[in-house]
Amino acid sequence: MACPQCGGENIRTARQLYELTEPAPPGLDPARLAPPPAPPGTNTLTAGQAQSNGKAKALIAIGGGLVVLRLLTLAANGYTGTGPSYTISWLGLILPVILLVRGVVLFNRNRAAAPYQPVDDQALANRALYTRRMQVWEHAQVCRDCKGAFFAEGVLHPGIPASPLITLDQFPLMVVTMAERAYGRAA
Ligand SMILES: [Zn+2]
Repeated sequence: MACPQCGGENIRTARQLYELTEPAPPGLDPARLAPPPAPPGTNTLTAGQAQSNGKAKALIAIGGGLVVLRLLTLAANGYTGTGPSYTISWLGLILPVILLVRGVVLFNRNRAAAPYQPVDDQALANRALYTRRMQVWEHAQVCRDCKGAFFAEGVLHPGIPASPLITLDQFPLMVVTMAERAYGRAA
């Protein structure tokens, strides 16, 4: 990877310089390569809610998977058969269905406990936007000779050409702009 301005390879990532894992050259203030700020007031689930939701999703996944598997087995046999093995096959559906139903009940109970709040949608949108900007920031390269930042061709998204070298004054705005270009505007 070469600098779009000088063609040199004295390149480090913005993260390396910001976190001081690589020395910044004189005149380059690593603080100016700071990552995008985290959105304020992001509501998160309490630990208990998250754990309960995780349990519900696990039950749904396991129960649902077993139901499908069992139905596929039965379908392979044409839903016909006789004797104990056939009966056991159908009986084998009962446990996964119980798991599935318990998962769905638990999931709905969690949802009822946490009523819909528009502010959560906003927080989610902020979080999604922040994630995109962080992805862009992670790809930012810095030329230590030119003391500017750039993005290599196609690193953000196939088809997006390499950026010119940008000054660190423009860096935060560049991260925001590139996040919109690479991932589309936030909904
Ligand atoms: Zn350069």
